[in-house]
Amino acid sequence: MTQGDADHPKEECGVVGLYSPNREAARLTFFALFALQHRGQESAGIAVSDGEKVRWHKNMGLVSQVFDEEVLSGLPGELAIGHNRYSTTGASALRNAQPIFCQSVVGELAVAHNGNLINAVELRRSMENEGEKFDSTSDTEVIARILIRHLSKGPEAAVNEVLKVAKGAYSVTVLTPRMLIGFRDPFGVRPLVVGTLGEDGYLMASESCAFGPVAGQVLRELEPGEMAIVDKNGLRFAKGSVSNRPAMCLFEFIYFARPDSAMYDTTLYAARERMGENLAKEHPIDADIVVPVPDSGIPAALGYSRVSKIPFREGMMKSRYIHRTFIAPDQNMRELGVRLKLTPLKEHIEGKRIVLVDDSIVRGTTTRQIVKLLFDSGAKEVHVRITAPPIQFPCFYGIDMATKSELAAARMSVQELNKYIGSTTLGFLTIEGATTAVGQPKSHFCLACFSGDYPIPVPENLNKDAFEDVSSADELVTVQQGQMTLFS
Ligand code: AMP
Repeated sequence: MTQGDADHPKEECGVVGLYSPNREAARLTFFALFALQHRGQESAGIAVSDGEKVRWHKNMGLVSQVFDEEVLSGLPGELAIGHNRYSTTGASALRNAQPIFCQSVVGELAVAHNGNLINAVELRRSMENEGEKFDSTSDTEVIARILIRHLSKGPEAAVNEVLKVAKGAYSVTVLTPRMLIGFRDPFGVRPLVVGTLGEDGYLMASESCAFGPVAGQVLRELEPGEMAIVDKNGLRFAKGSVSNRPAMCLFEFIYFARPDSAMYDTTLYAARERMGENLAKEHPIDADIVVPVPDSGIPAALGYSRVSKIPFREGMMKSRYIHRTFIAPDQNMRELGVRLKLTPLKEHIEGKRIVLVDDSIVRGTTTRQIVKLLFDSGAKEVHVRITAPPIQFPCFYGIDMATKSELAAARMSVQELNKYIGSTTLGFLTIEGATTAVGQPKSHFCLACFSGDYPIPVPENLNKDAFEDVSSADELVTVQQGQMTLFS
C-alpha cells in the first residue's frame, strides 16, 4: 500500500488469512505472521471474526512486541487475517498499519495488502466523484471500498472488480464477518500460497514458510488473477481477470523471501544455491575461500564453492538479535548497522584471497562496509560476487529499493562500483543466470529493477493516462470446490 509518497512507494509486507473452527484463529495467525517477520518489521496487525463481529489489533513493532496473551485473548473467532509491514518512519506509520478495517452501509470488512497500487489516486478520485467517502489516503482502502461496493454480487464478482481496475502489484487477504478471501493481481507480482490446517481449517500466506509453525499443508500457490474463498461452503478457487503474462518478482527469489519457502516449484534455498553455481560459471576467479554475507548469501556461497571447488568458509558472524540494517531510515544509522550486526572471524580471513558472495547491491553501503571489514581483518583480496544483476531501476511494485538516484548501479558502471565498494574484482549474475536457477523462462518474471522493463507500465509521474488496461479475461470460472462447512 502507498502512503502518498508516489515517488518512492515502499511497501514490503507479509499477509496471512486463516480459518480454524477448533483452534483460536488469532493465535495461529500470530505464529504464521511470526514466520513472515522478514517481510516487514515495523508494524503488525490481526483482524478476527467470530462470525458476527470483526475485531482487530495493530500497532508499531515486531509481531512479538505487538501481541501478547492479553491482546490475543481479546481477539476471539474462527476467521482471521494478519499483516506485517515495513514502512517509512514518522507519524504516518501507525495510521498506515494494517489490516485496515472498513465499514459502510452495505457491510464491513478488513483487508491486508502486500504490494503497491499504481493508480490508487485516480481510482479514489473517481470513486469520490461517485460519492464514496474515504477514511485515509491508503491504496488498501481503495481495494477495500471496491470490494465492499460489489460484495452483494458475491465474492468472485467483487474481487474481479478489483482485478479489472486496480493496476499494480497486490496480494491481498480479506475478512468479512463470515468469509475469508485471498487473491493475487493479474500479473501475480507478489506471492500468495493457499493450503489447509489438516482437517482443521485453511491457511493463506505470503510464503509457504508460514505453514510449518501452525502444522499447515500447502495446496498450491494462487495463480495470477486467481482468488481463494473460504465461506460456509468450504474452500473454492476462482479465476478472475488475468494479464497476458505472469510477472512474479525475481527479487523475491534472489533475496526477499525466506530460503525455506517454495515458489514456482522450487525452494528458494535450492534456487539460490543454483544462482551461486551459475555465478561461479559466469565469474570464475582464483581464490582461497568462498565467504557468504550472512545469512542471505549462504546458499549461493555454497553453490559457488561447489562449482569453483574453492572451500566454503564463514568469514563473519551475524548477531541474531538485530534485524535488518536496511530498517535504519537514514544513511548514518545504516552504516553503523553493518558494524552492529556483523563481526569478522579474523582467523578465517587473515592473509586470504576471498570470494565474498552476497545477494544484491542496492545503495552499495552494506557491501562497501563489509569489504572494508574484511580488509581491516587482514584479507589479501576480496572478490565480490553478487547473485543479482545490477539493480538500476526503482521498484514500484512493493519492494523498498530506494529511488533511482540512490541506486548504486544506476549511478555507476560495474568498474566504478568496484572502485566505490573497494573490492578487488566485482561480478554480477546475469538475468539468465538468475532465472535459469529458478527454473522458469525469463518471460515469467518481473525484471523491472534490473531491466527497466515494467510489466505494468509506470509513468514518470504515476499519472493514470499512461496506463493500459491489463484485463484480458473478465469471465469468472470456478475451478474447484472444497468440503469444509463453516458456521453450520
Ligand atoms: P545496500 O546495498 O547497502 O543498500 O544493501 C544491500 C543489502 O541489503 C543486500 O545485500 C540485502 O541483503 C539487503 N537488501 C536488499 N534489498 C532489500 C530490501 N528491499 N529490504 C531490506 N533489505 C534489503
